[in-house]
Amino acid sequence: TALIRVGIAGYGNLGRGVEAAIQQNSDMQLVAVFSRREPTSVTLLNAEVPVYAMAEVEQHQANIDVMILCGGSKTDLPEQGPYLAQFFNTVDSFDTHAKVNEYHAALDTPAKKTGHVALLSVGWDPGLFSLNRLFGEAILPQGETYTFWGKGLSQGHSDAVRRVAGVKKAVQYTLPNADAIARVRNGEQPVLSTREKHNRECYVVLSQGADAETVCNSIVTMPDYFADFDTVVNFIDETTFDKEHNNMPHGGFVIRSGVSGTSSKQTIEYSLKLDSNPEFTASVLVAYARAVHRLACAGEVGAKTVFDIAPGLLSPKSPAQLRKELL
Ligand code: NDP
Repeated sequence: TALIRVGIAGYGNLGRGVEAAIQQNSDMQLVAVFSRREPTSVTLLNAEVPVYAMAEVEQHQANIDVMILCGGSKTDLPEQGPYLAQFFNTVDSFDTHAKVNEYHAALDTPAKKTGHVALLSVGWDPGLFSLNRLFGEAILPQGETYTFWGKGLSQGHSDAVRRVAGVKKAVQYTLPNADAIARVRNGEQPVLSTREKHNRECYVVLSQGADAETVCNSIVTMPDYFADFDTVVNFIDETTFDKEHNNMPHGGFVIRSGVSGTSSKQTIEYSLKLDSNPEFTASVLVAYARAVHRLACAGEVGAKTVFDIAPGLLSPKSPAQLRKELL
């Protein structure tokens, strides 16, 4: 059978991750990358794949089965999503919670008009975590859902620490609070504030002559960012920093704690521990690109989310093979 021909629109962290993930899926082929930058300035992992200007994307309609959109949610996708849905079946990782229905509508119109599938908000959160929250709530209607994030790199908080006088380099990780998780797993169904759910951990390289205690104090008392959290500040040397803190780890937990019958405690837990957030998100996008291709071949059109996609469509295995592996 023919390979699924995939394009990438926008080549940053996520775009690079998509390129790597396609290499691990033998039923797929990356045929082109599109960028708003000068194509010769964009260096791919595989130099044999062509890079084209986004402005000429329309000319490549006939050669691409699914376009994976790797632009940022804030300003890129609201523009690129509806535009590209006119020409291609698309998958993206739109994660602006407050605007998801607006974005769905903006994709649905062009996709239906031109006969394409546009799958939005794929990744881990939104994405796999959303599915797991839905399972928990549908299966255990009496209960509470908890999402904990981390250990994860927070870009905004890292920037805030870097602005403190005396800081040369810094990263900030958000960690789930171990006590809070233990109480949830125990079926206590506690009411937890954001502050009680997460701790903060900083790794800092001091500038020449800076005083560790002063820097630590400025960080842990910083309003909005750290003052309301339990924060640990670790001072390390630059070599260690460059070696151990150049990844983008993330992950977290979705836990549904419920009661069935009269008093049976039931707990569902799903967790992710990711060395690289963009590489993992990209891997999810690629599996869903397979589903989008199959739906499009079956004549489906319009905007969709992970809730609309049957799990079997994600797998390269045939329905008969999957049935054999049901149990
Ligand atoms: P990047 O900032 O790395 O890339 C975004 C865009 O910026 C690219 O598409 C690219 O467009 C442009 N760009 C990238 N590198 C450069 C550069 N050196 N100079 C100029 N422009 C550049 O963002 P990420 O790939 O890290 O993240 C993209 C989105 O993924 C996030 O906004 C977030 O919404 C989403 N995401 C979703 C998750 C989920 O679970 N659902 C998890 C993680 C991320 P172009 O090639 O056209 O210039």
